[in-house]
Amino acid sequence: MRLARCDELYLVEHFFSIQGEGRFAGVPSIFLRFGGCNLRCPGFGNFEVGGKSVAGCDTIRAVYSSLYRKMWHPVRELQELEEIIFEYEDRLSYMPDVVITGGEPMVYADHPIFNALLKRLVEGGYRVTVESNATIAPSLKEHPFFSEITFAMAVKLSNSKEPKAKRVVHEAIEVLANETKESFFKFTLDRKLAEGSGAEEIARIVQRYENEVYCMPLGSSEKEIGENAPSVADFCLENGYRYSDRLHVRLWNREEKR
Ligand code: SF4
Repeated sequence: MRLARCDELYLVEHFFSIQGEGRFAGVPSIFLRFGGCNLRCPGFGNFEVGGKSVAGCDTIRAVYSSLYRKMWHPVRELQELEEIIFEYEDRLSYMPDVVITGGEPMVYADHPIFNALLKRLVEGGYRVTVESNATIAPSLKEHPFFSEITFAMAVKLSNSKEPKAKRVVHEAIEVLANETKESFFKFTLDRKLAEGSGAEEIARIVQRYENEVYCMPLGSSEKEIGENAPSVADFCLENGYRYSDRLHVRLWNREEKR
């Protein structure tokens, strides 16, 4: 299934931290953040960039290439990415997880270097998670290694202010949920959604799948998370979903590369 294609592969940043969200929260992980996204999610907040106010999400630097041009590094060789992994790993006495994140990393689902990286990681025995908005699925026929990758399927809800047809793509969710390894849903809710239409929205999306469902509070700062977390925790108790905090924000607040 080919739903998107990007010719140039852009890496925005890499860092070593703990996974703060979802099923593998707390696990030491190497993060590779790729630039580009097929959504904009204007409902997630306003950010000051170069004196301008821009609506978007907490990884806005991986969404708008024009505003963050200096951070977007074009990757020309697989070796560049492998060296990043080796450099972190050299300092460790154990094998960390590798998290591929964005933006939306699956905009590169057809990119040869992106796919070669994922294949190498899977063959090398790494546990790989792709953090995705679950609107783009890979071709498992062409790239069977994707079946060994875990997808954190962060399907966007109405609070993203994206049109439903763009943010809920069952054609892609079906592949990711049923044909990849231990993939799970990860929804972001604010207090209003948790106390309003959130339950119905999530149930409509997950009812045809058996994957685990995590719900986490919206917020890119400790303060915002603190405001939304109690309602999201109650929401999880009421609906039988798993609560996910955002540990990296609790620990390091707005610090980037964490
Ligand atoms: S899908 Fe994710 S990365 Fe893309 S704009 Fe929305 S929140 Fe940001």
